[in-house]
Amino acid sequence: MKILRIIEKKKIHQAAELLLNSKEAIALTGAGVSTESGIPDFRGEDGIWKKFPIETFGTLESLLKNPAKFWEMAQKIAPNLFKAKPNPGHCALAELEKMDLIKAVITQNIDELHQKAGSIIVYEVHGSINRFNCLGCKASYTKEQVYRKLKKEKKTGPQCEFCATPLKPSVVLFGEGLPRFEIFQSQALAKKADVMLIVGSSLSVAPICDLPLYTLREKGKLIIVNDQPTHLDEKAEVVINHKSGTILPLIVEEIKKLKSEQEPIV
Ligand code: NAD
Repeated sequence: MKILRIIEKKKIHQAAELLLNSKEAIALTGAGVSTESGIPDFRGEDGIWKKFPIETFGTLESLLKNPAKFWEMAQKIAPNLFKAKPNPGHCALAELEKMDLIKAVITQNIDELHQKAGSIIVYEVHGSINRFNCLGCKASYTKEQVYRKLKKEKKTGPQCEFCATPLKPSVVLFGEGLPRFEIFQSQALAKKADVMLIVGSSLSVAPICDLPLYTLREKGKLIIVNDQPTHLDEKAEVVINHKSGTILPLIVEEIKKLKSEQEPIV
């Protein structure tokens, strides 16, 4: 590929070798892996919080204070999330899992694009856009049920049929705790990982930004694929500042090449 400089090709080779020689590699992904699917990240130039300030729209408090306003924003964001399709970056990660070179994807994303691309072991540490729950009795609702309610309950935002408490998408809002099982699994995997492939994350949202530190502490290595620098770049073995939709398929291609070179000629 013409746009890639020699230096990037060398880094792609290094990343491929690290993954190929790993035993417990995992991937950690953030909003950046989905921008090429048309979903803006939070902190980039077209970031979601530029249009919808966190204090007004992104906290549990804001939802409780004014559910109708929260759902107004959700209705503007959701169609884009629902219609998005996985891009070559998601597909490359799914292929790495099929090749048994990554054991799991830990994602901060709520868009389910990893699963749509074919990844099977995915830990969604910030929840998912496809499930909805009552904030009171925890009754669960489908997307279709919520759509129907949104039309009828415009003034209040959708409410629970049993206890009339506001409904919430099962995504983690600021001010909420993270799902315990997913966090426990992610920490255990990060400690065990000999390689962590970090893709499209500014590594600025706690506590997920600590996961790479668990890996480093146990002498694991980091590969970072992000179009902007991150504060962990100097601790990483390989840093590639480029689009993940371009780089990840090239890493997979390079792995296949290396594997074929390793195969004995009979
Ligand atoms: P972030 O917005 O803080 O950082 C994204 C990073 O990805 C940035 O450094 C950006 O430069 C980089 N990036 C953007 N496009 C890229 C590309 N094509 N290739 C490589 N890098 C690219 O995102 P974060 O670290 O995930 O943390 C913020 C929060 O955003 C998370 O809590 C997540 O839940 C939420 N979020 C999720 C989605 C989604 O589900 N798709 C979208 C927006 C925000």
